[in-house]
Amino acid sequence: MLELKDINVSYGAIHAIHDVSLTVNDGEIVSLIGANGAGKTTILHTITGLKKPSSGIISYDGKDLIKTEASKIITLGMAHVPEGRHIFPSMTVFENLEMGAYIRNNREEISESINEVFERFPRLKERKKQLAGTLSGGEQQMLAVGRALMSKPKIILMDEPSMGLSPLLVKEIFAIIREVHRQEITVLLVEQNAKMALSIADRAYVLETGHISMSGDAKELLNNEKVKKAYLGL
Ligand code: ATP
Repeated sequence: MLELKDINVSYGAIHAIHDVSLTVNDGEIVSLIGANGAGKTTILHTITGLKKPSSGIISYDGKDLIKTEASKIITLGMAHVPEGRHIFPSMTVFENLEMGAYIRNNREEISESINEVFERFPRLKERKKQLAGTLSGGEQQMLAVGRALMSKPKIILMDEPSMGLSPLLVKEIFAIIREVHRQEITVLLVEQNAKMALSIADRAYVLETGHISMSGDAKELLNNEKVKKAYLGL
């Protein structure tokens, strides 16, 4: 469904991504793990059209994403929950959710979707009139996911959702990702928190300084000695 083939990306003289190939099939949770600066965000930005690769192929549902304008990619059913959440802090929870539906225009359906998000995340419903900037980190992440759901995506790309959150909130995020997946939405999860990312995923890729160094069944990677030493602190 989503396929990257031999992708190379540079920032000027810095060759950040080297011949990266990966696939995400319909209905899967696929994790991309790697240390700080490995290139995870760059890969997501390349998929969503924010950054153009110097070579390689990216296709989604048979469409060439490299030739698709970044602003059109969301209309193909792909939503991005960016690193740092990027919610609109001076808007309410409700308004943030409405913003997530900007590509849709049927008011009734939008309102139905908002209700669905509130059913999934009752905490957001309780806080619907609260300014988003005053939410806790975990609630902001919940809102960022809720906002992404408002575009009715088939696939969600999540960039380090656990970043900056306490272990308890990381568990909550974990539950949110499972919830998204229960709605038959495919997930590509980018994480530094390898333990979380591998335990939730079907398959995973390990990115090291712009190269895919390992890939396979997520549970097998969780038990892989190299992964344990390098990413799980064991
Ligand atoms: P983190 O977990 O810290 O967000 P990451 O795995 O997402 O890291 P990227 O942000 O994709 O890594 O960065 C990959 C490499 O590309 C790094 O060496 C980084 O310094 C470099 N890089 C990223 N953005 C830019 C930019 N706008 N200009 C120049 N170099 C960049």
